[in-house]
Amino acid sequence: MSSPSGAGKTTLSRKLLADDKNISLSVSVTTRKARTGEVDGKDYHFITKDRFEQMIARRELLEWAQVFDNLYGTPKAPVDAALAEGRDVLFDIDWQGTQQLAQAMEDDLVRVFILPPDADSLRTRLITRNQDSSTVVAKRMAEAPRELSHWAEYDYVVVNADVDRALAQVVAILTAERLRRKRQIGLSEFVREMTTKL
Ligand code: 5GP
Repeated sequence: MSSPSGAGKTTLSRKLLADDKNISLSVSVTTRKARTGEVDGKDYHFITKDRFEQMIARRELLEWAQVFDNLYGTPKAPVDAALAEGRDVLFDIDWQGTQQLAQAMEDDLVRVFILPPDADSLRTRLITRNQDSSTVVAKRMAEAPRELSHWAEYDYVVVNADVDRALAQVVAILTAERLRRKRQIGLSEFVREMTTKL
């Protein structure tokens, strides 16, 4: 799931994770400082630039990118472990990371872009989040058009005017994607077995 900063993506992800226990959140590593209220290991793993570079060198990241002034990346091992358990993994990452994941696992990836309902609500959400300094808010606002420009690279686009409605739409996407024939493991055996009993 990607969106410009302030479109409500984090709130949506939290609700999705609370409602569906078969989804694991991919907790990214970042060199950004923790915001008030953010928990290390839950919202992000907050690490140093040296450690980040070490993870790149050791190929421990599935993807990584510089977003605003910081580095963000997806640790590979927890994703592999969750997928091996048959769980779905939710990535809250930007368009650069999405492009890299699409190259690494195109058939398994479902890309959802979250749009704000209008420019004013994006601005208001960024400001009232009240966790970033005004310089950071201004920078994120300035970056929004560039982030928005990537909407057409996604499989689905959800306009987040009302969070419950947007959540229902994301759940509908997930339900449909899980029902895709290619994702239903064991379907041939299931049908074959049924056929023998007819
Ligand atoms: P924030 O600093 O507001 O938490 O995140 C800034 C942006 O970085 C958001 O668009 C978020 O989706 C993106 N981001 C967070 N983690 C990752 C990651 O692991 N990889 C990439 N490519 N982007 C990330």
